[in-house]
Amino acid sequence: KVRVRFAPSPTGPLHLGGVRTALYDYLFAKNQGGEFVLRIEDTDTARYVEGAEEYIEEALEWCGIIADESPKKGGKFAPYRQSERRDIYDRYTEQILKTDYAYIAFDTAEELDAIRAEYEARGDVFSYDNKTRNRLRNSLALSEEEVQKLLDEKTPYVVRFKMPVDRTLNLEDIIRGKSSVNTNTLDDKVLVKNDGMPTYHFANIIDDHEMEISHVIRGEEWLPSLGLHTLLYEAMGWKAPQFAHLSLILKPEGKGKLSKRDGDKFGFPVFPLNFTDPVTGNVSKGYRESGYLPEAFINMVALLGWSPADDKEILSLDEMAKEFDLNKVHKAGARFSKEKAEWFNHQYIQKTSDEDLLNILKNSYLNLTLSDEKLLKVIHLMKERATFPKDIYENGKFFFEAPTSYDEKASKKAWNDETSAILGELSTNLEGADFNTENLKQIVHDFAENKGLGMGKVMMPLRLALVGELKGPDVPDIMELLGKEETISRISNAIN
Ligand code: GLU
Repeated sequence: KVRVRFAPSPTGPLHLGGVRTALYDYLFAKNQGGEFVLRIEDTDTARYVEGAEEYIEEALEWCGIIADESPKKGGKFAPYRQSERRDIYDRYTEQILKTDYAYIAFDTAEELDAIRAEYEARGDVFSYDNKTRNRLRNSLALSEEEVQKLLDEKTPYVVRFKMPVDRTLNLEDIIRGKSSVNTNTLDDKVLVKNDGMPTYHFANIIDDHEMEISHVIRGEEWLPSLGLHTLLYEAMGWKAPQFAHLSLILKPEGKGKLSKRDGDKFGFPVFPLNFTDPVTGNVSKGYRESGYLPEAFINMVALLGWSPADDKEILSLDEMAKEFDLNKVHKAGARFSKEKAEWFNHQYIQKTSDEDLLNILKNSYLNLTLSDEKLLKVIHLMKERATFPKDIYENGKFFFEAPTSYDEKASKKAWNDETSAILGELSTNLEGADFNTENLKQIVHDFAENKGLGMGKVMMPLRLALVGELKGPDVPDIMELLGKEETISRISNAIN
């Protein structure tokens, strides 16, 4: 049975890379008819950020990435918050200490700092490993009596992994293929801290085993830990899951990883939802608040590093799940593009019904002073050019308010000495007219023909009078929507 987990640490908001990991976890699980689990890895109390877990859950929900099992939902392997799984870890700490793969170490932070300084003074780098562990205060270097004495005195200690000497580990990754690492390059990582809580490495493999996780799909920053994790499975006598490490999401231009600062600096969001920094109070922009539709956002994220068959670009979550294939995930980093993100949103705005867009607009801060019926017409006329829902309002402002001034350049182009008289006469013709687009088109057309004027000579100043500039949808459409009274009043304002 395929079971995949997303295991964020609540150390801050979920960013684009985190969303992509969660999404690929989800897509792979669904593709395989398996389950997707959300597990909160909160054993590092020093890095814990208040509200981060809620942020992560809300963000995933907004994206439509719904977990089958999670802290909120529960499930067969609850609890799903590591801080609540202490008894399980205690049991396995006891187990690993009975093997030759772990030992206890009493070194204090000060002692370790002193040794590190000693090494650095010689131009060396200190590492707690098979070359140094015999000099330090641990159960491998001390006699049994000394250890017992320290334990009796309640001396704080950590549990460390005993990295085997000179073993070549053959590692496998679904995306990256085979690689190998020699254990001499790895150190004796802490598995359990002196407060009795396991570190990420130990808790992570225990939970992946306990929760019957079959595939670990995560960011490439965890690739250097794969050797240690492989050995931890061996130490516990467990079968390891399969691994897939995802490449970085890169800056829009230049080198390196996309960061929160890129978003702040270049004015695009990197978080799904707005995030207020608890220390500085600064708000970093979220996709949701910037007017992205979750379906567009998720579609954009999915294609940062994965190409579906025949290079289709617009896919729903279900379609993506149907097509998702880890073998088609790119080894190279994917470059983020703001323009592409906007392109996706524009596409999805076109796919969204006028009624749904109406609901979105009504839920925004915008001051919508028209009836729903008229709003639906505005949406229908304006959505074609909209990237964000608010563009419908902003580009169609003239539907809500009469122009108070007329664009200077446009006036020069559209207006001359005869214009007022022409529009005045047209306005009189409109008084008895039926205000529907077809009829209005005919009236303006006939009027221009009778006067021996080109259509532009009438349409342009008419547009200027109604809109204030020479933009917007077809003039008869605008007239129908504004209605007779407003149309005539705007013409009158313009010519007087
Ligand atoms: N808690 C780790 C993180 O925050 C999870 C890494 C993993 O998926 O193994 O990224």
